[in-house]
Amino acid sequence: MGADGQASRVRHWTGIETKTVTHRHAIRRHYRIKPWSSYVEVHWGTRVQAYVTPVGGEVCIVILSVTPEYASFDKTLCEFPDLKEKLSGAELNSRERGAVTCMRTLRNVQRRNVALVGDASGGVDAITGDGIRLALRQAFALVEAMAADDLEQYEQKHRELAKGATRMGNLMLWLDRNPRLRRRVIRSFAHVGNACGTRNSGGSVFDRSATRLAAADYLRKAGVQSELHLELRYSFLAVQFR
Ligand SMILES: Cc1cc2nc3c(=O)[nH]c(=O)nc-3n(C[C@H](O)[C@H](O)[C@H](O)COP(=O)(O)OP(=O)(O)OC[C@H]3O[C@@H](n4cnc5c(N)ncnc54)[C@H](O)[C@@H]3O)c2cc1C
Repeated sequence: MGADGQASRVRHWTGIETKTVTHRHAIRRHYRIKPWSSYVEVHWGTRVQAYVTPVGGEVCIVILSVTPEYASFDKTLCEFPDLKEKLSGAELNSRERGAVTCMRTLRNVQRRNVALVGDASGGVDAITGDGIRLALRQAFALVEAMAADDLEQYEQKHRELAKGATRMGNLMLWLDRNPRLRRRVIRSFAHVGNACGTRNSGGSVFDRSATRLAAADYLRKAGVQSELHLELRYSFLAVQFR
């Protein structure tokens, strides 16, 4: 069993090929300051995002960017004036540490008597907040397949489990590349409250069907002759405003 993370050696040894992969660069700091929200916040800048996670009596800030150069507090915190203001004067409580987050799909997640699980078996961008949940669900699926002596069963279950998180990751990264549309989508979601809150326990960024219903409800109540269609097909997204 290969559960050795995104740079998995076991994956390399088994010769399982990567189908698609995209990387983003992350840098994180912990600040000793009372969290102002129990939710994870995602702040969108022009070239970067800032994720704010309440952790006990402090907040963890992660800056993410496609380009390593911009995964930097010094260069990009100024893109988030509200956040910068909240953090001003707060004591740093950790060393700055970097990481890479990947969206990876593989041709297979098992071969002969070897199976991959967690980030070794692919992975979703950190923006989904789904990496750990996915890894744990894959682990349960693998245990069942091993008990049934059928790793093909795991392959199939793995595909099903990855589908939702991969689509959500692709959707969020697509919005990242389309700032005008992102602003409109977020403005609509801002009116639908909890439907688009990220849970701190590693749940999805938002519940797709609940969000779609709530957004449609909001637009209907607002008397806007608009309809928001979020159509996710094979990681292709069509967002139409009518
Ligand atoms: C910036 C960032 C933010 C994230 N935020 C979230 C979030 O908010 N919520 C969430 O759910 N997920 C998040 N994730 C994703 C999450 O961290 C991963 O999905 C999760 O850690 C995957 O777990 P894993 O056990 O598969 O791999 P890992 O956590 O990478 O664990 C693999 C382990 O294998 C060990 N290992 C590797 N090679 C060997 C070897 N040869 N011998 C022995 N041991 C070895 C490593 O040391 C490591 O301990 C984030 C990721 C990043 C980069």
